[in-house]
Order: sequence, then C-alpha cells, then structure tokens
Amino acid sequence: MISLRDLTTVQRAALALGGAAVIAALAVLIAASDFDLTAIRTLRSVQIGADGRVLDTTYNPAALLGLALIGLTLLGVIGLTFAALAKLLSGTLSRSGAGGASRDAVAKAGQKLERELAKVLENIRAHITTNESYAKSLANAQSRLAGLPESEQVRVIVSLLVAENERMRNASDTLGKRLEDSYKQIQSLRASLSQAQESVLKDPLTGAGNRRQFDVTMEKAISACAQNSTALSLIMCDIDHFKRVNDAYGHQVGDELIKMFARVIEAGVRETDTVIRYGGEEFAIILPMTDQDAARSIAERIRRQFESKRLTIRETNQKIGQPTASFGVAQYRAGDGVDSLVQRADTKLYDAKSSGRNRVAAFGQSD
Ligand code: GH3
Ligand code: MG
Ligand code: MG
Repeated sequence: MISLRDLTTVQRAALALGGAAVIAALAVLIAASDFDLTAIRTLRSVQIGADGRVLDTTYNPAALLGLALIGLTLLGVIGLTFAALAKLLSGTLSRSGAGGASRDAVAKAGQKLERELAKVLENIRAHITTNESYAKSLANAQSRLAGLPESEQVRVIVSLLVAENERMRNASDTLGKRLEDSYKQIQSLRASLSQAQESVLKDPLTGAGNRRQFDVTMEKAISACAQNSTALSLIMCDIDHFKRVNDAYGHQVGDELIKMFARVIEAGVRETDTVIRYGGEEFAIILPMTDQDAARSIAERIRRQFESKRLTIRETNQKIGQPTASFGVAQYRAGDGVDSLVQRADTKLYDAKSSGRNRVAAFGQSD
C-alpha cells in the first residue's frame, strides 16, 4: 500500500489537516446534536398543515455538512492517492535512456510501466465515475422525497444512505486492492528498470564501465573541467603480450587475467575515478581533479601492483608467469574533446609499448 513516505511534506500536512478538520467537524456535529444522532440523519424537515399541504420545509445543516464532509473526504483521498502515484511514476520514468544489448530490457520495463500507469488511471477514472453516480443518486432521492410524509422520508433517507455507503465502501475497497496491486507491480518494475539501466553501462566480464559509460563520463568530465578550470587526466593501459596467455592457457584463463587486471585497477583508484574496459585487455581510467603528475603516480602504483600478482589456474594449481601492463597518461588541455584527449593518452601508451612495455609514459614539460 502507499505509505506516508511516498508523499511530499505538503501532501502529508494536507492529509493531517484534512483528518483533523474531519474529526473536529464530527465532534461539533455530535455535540450540537446533544448526542442524538437522529438530528444528523434527518436531511430535511417538512411541516404539514391540517389540510395535508406542506407549510414549511427546513434543511438540517448538520446532516448537509455531514454529507459534504463525506464527499470531500472521498475526493481528498482520491486526489492524494493520484498525486502520490503520479510522483512515484514520474520518479521512475524520468530515469531512462540506454543502449547496447540491454536496451531491449530497458524498453520492455518502460512499456510495462506505461501499461501499469494506464491501468491506475483507468481505475481512478472508474472510481470518480462511481463517486459521481453516488452524488447523483443522493440528489435524485432528494427530489423524490418531496411528496412523502416526514416519518417515511427519514426511513427512506436512512436506508438510501446505508445502501449507497455500502456501495461506495465496496467500490473503495476494490479500488484500494487494485491500486495496491499496481503499486507492487510498479515497485518491482522500477527495480528491474534500474538494474537494466545499470547493466547497459557495464562490462559483464569485469563489472567495469563499458564504452558507452566512457562516452557519457568523458563528456561530463570535459565540460566540468572546461567550466571550472579544474584538472582532468586520462590513463590508457593494456596488458602486455596478452595474446601469449590466450594461446598458452586458453581464452578462459585470458579472461581471468583481464578480471584480475580490472580488480587491481579498481583497488588503485578513488571513488570519483571511473574505470572503463575500453577493448579486449585495454582499460581507460578517467581521473577528474587530477593533474598529469598525480595520474602518472597512480598509473605507476597500479603497474607495480599488477606485476606483483600471479594468476593460478584452479584445475591444475599452476601459476602463470608474471603479468605486466603498459600505461599512457595525458592531461586535459583547453579546447580538448574526447577524441583528442584519448588520442594523446593512446600515443603515450604506444610509446610505453615500443620502449619495452611494463612502464608508464606521460608527456614531459617540453611536449
Ligand atoms: P601487446 O603487448 O602489444 O599489447 O600485445 P598483446 O598480445 O597483448 O596484444 P594483441 O592486440 O596482439 O592481442 C590481444 C588479444 O586479446 C587478441 C584477442 O584475441 C584477445 N582478446 C580480445 N578480447 C578478449 C577477451 O575478452 N578475452 C580474452 N581471453 N581474449 C581477448
Ligand atoms: Mg595487450
Ligand atoms: Mg590491446
């Protein structure tokens, strides 16, 4: 069911005020009637002369107020329910946008959500129609009562109110159950939607970001550092002679080495840095607020960590030779776009490879 936590402060205050007003009004009504509830149930009193003609008709304000309160409370509850659901759905639907293999999953979850929203709206519309018919049937009863004697009027009004209230209670129960079902559906769709959205930006083998995540993060990082004149560095790194590992031990062992490299990189960077699997055994590390010297030290630390690791083949308990990787570092320069920054870091990675591998290359003062 929808909990108070789903409502805004204003909606909660409105709910509390509405509840307090209803309770206060009921207390006044009961006190004003000297605890004789007949005064509340009698909507209208008719004075009939000796000749049977209607002399005077008076309406009971207490009963009218009571009816108005019932109507207002029902409308208030429907309004709040609708507002809470609209808020819930807008929060869910506003987080969209995806690509790659999981795009279908995101689109499907989005479509399911839209269908669920349509159901909720349909239920609320049906309930509003029931409310209107409730008000109409009470209004019709008023005119039909005009010719009846007073005692008969009271009996008819009471039985009408009992029947109509029962009908409304049933309709509200049904609406409540349907909304509760929809709410549960929406919660679970929301969870699968955010899972699908997350997986769209992740590399399934290592859990690092993928190329799509790279594009999104680089665009943001470049525009942030262009605006605030802060530093931004990029490290491109690649496992050395990885093909030999694949050839000697098989693709699966190769995959394990890629995962090990990803873990070493993740352990060597901060929360604010982003690790991307850029290609097969090539990774990119985006380092906001980091100048080239700091990025070079980080790359050096990761390089040392990686060369100290040994991958063991589980089945045979055999350790494979020392793994190494090469690193290229570049810092953002005014006017850089994603491509030019990647290209400079790649140039340095190539330098590291061609000058012997297992090293970090960065631009010097003269470059
Ligand atoms: P270098 O030191 O110059 O980087 O040499 P290298 O052997 O590491 O690089 P090369 O580009 O010659 O070979 C990379 C190999 O990685 C070729 C490709 O078959 C393999 N590869 C690409 N993606 C994956 C993957 O996901 N898993 C595994 N196991 N191998 C992959
Ligand atoms: Mg390689
Ligand atoms: Mg490579």
